[in-house]
Amino acid sequence: MRWDGQGVSVDDGALPGLQRIGFVRSVRTPQFEGITFHEVLCKSALNKVPEGSMLPFRYTVNGYRGCSHACRYCFARPTHEYLDMDSGADFDSQVVVKTNVAEVLRRELHRKTWQRETVALGTNTDPYQRAEGRYALMPRIIGALAASGTPFSILTKGTLLRRDLTLIADAAEHVDVSVAVSLAVGHPELHRDVEPGTPSPQARLGLIAAIRDAGLQCHVMVAPVLPKLTDSVEHLDDLLGQIAAAGANGVTVFGLHLRGSTRGWFMSWLARSHPELIAEYRNLYRRGAYLPPEYRDMLRDRVTPLVNRHGLNPDRRSFQAAQAPAALTAQVAQPTLF
Ligand code: SF4
Repeated sequence: MRWDGQGVSVDDGALPGLQRIGFVRSVRTPQFEGITFHEVLCKSALNKVPEGSMLPFRYTVNGYRGCSHACRYCFARPTHEYLDMDSGADFDSQVVVKTNVAEVLRRELHRKTWQRETVALGTNTDPYQRAEGRYALMPRIIGALAASGTPFSILTKGTLLRRDLTLIADAAEHVDVSVAVSLAVGHPELHRDVEPGTPSPQARLGLIAAIRDAGLQCHVMVAPVLPKLTDSVEHLDDLLGQIAAAGANGVTVFGLHLRGSTRGWFMSWLARSHPELIAEYRNLYRRGAYLPPEYRDMLRDRVTPLVNRHGLNPDRRSFQAAQAPAALTAQVAQPTLF
């Protein structure tokens, strides 16, 4: 790793959860203040999606666990608990890096039994989070997939994807490639508060334009829509207009769901930043993780004419790019989701 001369501190101790997944060492550097990287050597890279899933892919690869993008609503937070870390601040700041993921993937893709099914990147944590600037897992992952003739899709909020655009466009000459950007919060202040580690909305609009300039299709996940915070006609109309102007091919829209320990983490943020909405959210999510049908119907009726007006109806190909995370399987029933 390229840590020499950067004030790196390293330790070899680890929680039992990390020891179970091939822990090598923990690394801290001033460039990533407040973040600890836990380097592990993984035994497998391809994860199979459970049978019966409605998702448009059968396999995923995740080079990282935990995500410094730190979205308050992140559905992947509970996965950190399997590592004996918490799903709140630890998820944002204790990032597990599978340093050998590309090499293991390359071996798996060379098996005679590999059927070259679509592999989704970005289903659990963001493959272009800040760590990727140092560890550069993605160029080798993309190279391995393309070399083996395996189609793949990428979903990200990270503008670091620009670094790999030429590589991705080259891969698209040989295999099906879908690229999707997640952008659901247009207000700069709310963005800084609810997605504090992510690139700004403007930077992500620039990323969409860059993807299109590279000759690739770009789908946009306008999700999750946050009740009473980002679900007004004005906000959605403005955001969809900017997404269309950036050149996106289509959008998928759906509302916030709050599952497991993500719910407590999000609600504690809401209590700090928007205490006036606590009662309303408790009522909306009183039956469980998902918004009630009445709200989803309202959102669909609100969004459909806006999506049509901005010419953002997803075609079949671009919908394939909108790889909804596994936790959202239950909501994947139609091209534009609510
Ligand atoms: S970018 Fe995605 S994976 Fe990362 S914290 Fe946000 S929602 Fe979670």
